[in-house]
Amino acid sequence: MERFDVCIVGSGLAGMSGAYEAARAGASVCLMGKGGVGKASATSMSAGIFTHPTEGLREEELFKATIDIGRNVNDERLVRILVTNGRTVPEFLSEVGITYETKPSGITLRRQRLMFPGVELAQLMRKVLADLGVVLFERCVTESLILERKRCIGTLNFDKNGNAFPIASHSTILATGGFCAVFGDHDNPSGLVGDGIAMGLRAGALARDLEFVQFFPIGMKQEGFPPFVLFPPYANGARIVNEKGDDVLRKRVPEETDLTRAVLLQRDKVCQAIAFEEDRGRKCYLDLSNATGWDKIDMETLNSMYQLKTYGFSPSDGKVRIRPTAHHSMGGLVIDECCQTEVIGLYAAGEVVGGLHGANRRGGNALTEAVVFGRIAGRIAAERAMGRQGTPSTRLLDDELTMKETDTTHLSKMRKAIGEVCTKSLGIVRSREGLVNGLEWVNRLRQEARSTSEVSMEDGKKDIENILVVVEGALNSALLRQESRGSHFRRDFPVEDERWLGHVEVSMSESDLIYSFVSKKKLT
Ligand SMILES: Cc1cc2nc3c(=O)[nH]c(=O)nc-3n(C[C@H](O)[C@H](O)[C@H](O)COP(=O)(O)OP(=O)(O)OC[C@H]3O[C@@H](n4cnc5c(N)ncnc54)[C@H](O)[C@@H]3O)c2cc1C
Repeated sequence: MERFDVCIVGSGLAGMSGAYEAARAGASVCLMGKGGVGKASATSMSAGIFTHPTEGLREEELFKATIDIGRNVNDERLVRILVTNGRTVPEFLSEVGITYETKPSGITLRRQRLMFPGVELAQLMRKVLADLGVVLFERCVTESLILERKRCIGTLNFDKNGNAFPIASHSTILATGGFCAVFGDHDNPSGLVGDGIAMGLRAGALARDLEFVQFFPIGMKQEGFPPFVLFPPYANGARIVNEKGDDVLRKRVPEETDLTRAVLLQRDKVCQAIAFEEDRGRKCYLDLSNATGWDKIDMETLNSMYQLKTYGFSPSDGKVRIRPTAHHSMGGLVIDECCQTEVIGLYAAGEVVGGLHGANRRGGNALTEAVVFGRIAGRIAAERAMGRQGTPSTRLLDDELTMKETDTTHLSKMRKAIGEVCTKSLGIVRSREGLVNGLEWVNRLRQEARSTSEVSMEDGKKDIENILVVVEGALNSALLRQESRGSHFRRDFPVEDERWLGHVEVSMSESDLIYSFVSKKKLT
C-alpha cells in the first residue's frame, strides 16, 4: 500500500496549488485526478480571469461586491481570506511561470499558444509539481474515504484499468471541484459530478448551499458550433435578443447597458432574463450585427469573439443561438479558516467547498479561491501530517479490493436520465412542483440502480449513488428555500425574503440526508 503525508484528490487549480504548498513544506504528497494533471477540470476550461484587490479595486470594495453579488449569504470569514490573500495570486502565478495581463480588477492569463489558458497553466504546474517530487496519479478515480474512529486515514482509488488501490495518508484534501456536470446542459468536463461532496458527507462532513447553482448565460446552441460558452469580454455593441429582435436585457437588467459587465456582475439576472424568454417559447441569440472592433480581434484580446471567428462566423451573419448552461456550483462542503472539514484529517478547497460565493459568484473569484484556499489547505494539511508520529496506514486489506468493471452503457443511460431531471427541476426557474417531481425521479433512479441485477453494473453503482446524493441534496435544499435569492429563483416565491438569510446545511446519518437551516446576520 502506498503511504503519503498528504493525499490530494482532484488535480484542478485547488489541488495543484495545495500540492505545491504541501510539497514545499517538506511533506510527501500525492495528487489524484480523473484526467491528466490539471485536465478534466474546470480549471483547464476556464477563461483565466482572476479577481483580486488592485489599486483600482480596493480590498473593501471587492469584499463588499462579493457579498452584494452573493446576496448576503456568503461566509464572511472565507470572503475576507479570499480578498486579503488574493493579492498573492500574481506572485504565485509568476513563480509557476505563466504570463498574465494586469487588469483594473485583477489579472487575466495571456493566451499565447492555446485558446484555453487554463490548459497552459496546468501544463506548467504539472512540471513544477513533478520537480517538487509530488507523485501524480493520473486518470485515477477516488471512490471513497477510509475512516478509522471518525478520522480520515486515506482513500480508496481505482486506476484507469479498474484496479483498486488504497492510499494511506495522515491528511487528505478534497479538491474535486463542483457538480455542474450532473446537468443535461453544462460547460464542465463530464467528471465533475460532486464526488467530493458525496464522499465528504458519507464521512461525516457537512455541506451547505447546494441549491445555489450558477448558470452561464451565453452557451452556444447553434447547429454546427461546439457547445462551448462564449466568455467575456464581448465586442462593443453585442446584445442578447429574442427571436422578435427585442433586447432581452433592456427589459430585465435595465441598469446594465454593457453586456460584458452584465455577464460578469449580474450573471444570475442575465440567465433569468433568457430563461423567462425561453419559457415563453422565444429563443434567444447573441446579436453581433452592430458589434464594433471585430476586425481587431485576436486570440489574446476578445477570446470568445475570436472563437466565433475561427468557427467561420462573421458579424454579417447577425446572430448566434444561445442558451444558459450549468457552470459553477456555489454549494459544497463546510470548512473553517484552515480548510478543515468536520472530519479530523480531512480538508477541502476550491469549488468542492460551499459558502464563499453565497447565492451567486462574482466572475473571476473562483480561480482566486482555488489558489488561495488550495495553498492554505496544502500548508495546514502538511503541518498536521508532519507533526504526527509513525507512518500512515490503513487497516483495509489489499485482498478485499476488487477490479472495477463499469458497464458504461448502463451508466451513461442513467447519467443522461439524471441530467434531464436536473435540467428540468433544478434549472434557472424552479417551482415546488418541479422540485418534488425531480425528487420522485431521483428515488426511482436510485431504486433502479440498487435493484439492477447486472453484475457489471455493480461497481458503477457507487458513482451513480454519489451523484444521486448530491442531486437529492440540491433538490431538497432548493425545495426548502422558499424565496428567490441570487441564482436560486422560485417561480412560487419570486422575491428575496429576510427570513431565509442563512444557509441550508446538509449532513448524512446512516445513508439519509438531513437538512437544517442556519440563519445568519446581515453584514451592516
Ligand atoms: C468554462 C468555464 C470557464 C471558467 N472561467 C473562469 C474564470 O475565468 N475565472 C474564474 O474565476 N472562474 C472560472 N470558472 C470557474 C473555475 O474555473 C472553477 O471554479 C475552478 O477552476 C475550480 O477549481 P478546482 O480546482 O476547485 O476544481 P477543478 O478545476 O474542476 O478540478 C477538479 C479536479 O477533481 C478531479 N476529480 C473529481 N472527482 C474526482 C474523483 N472522484 N477522483 C479523482 N479526481 C477527481 C477532476 O478530475 C479535476 O482534476 C470557469 C468555469 C468553467 C466551466
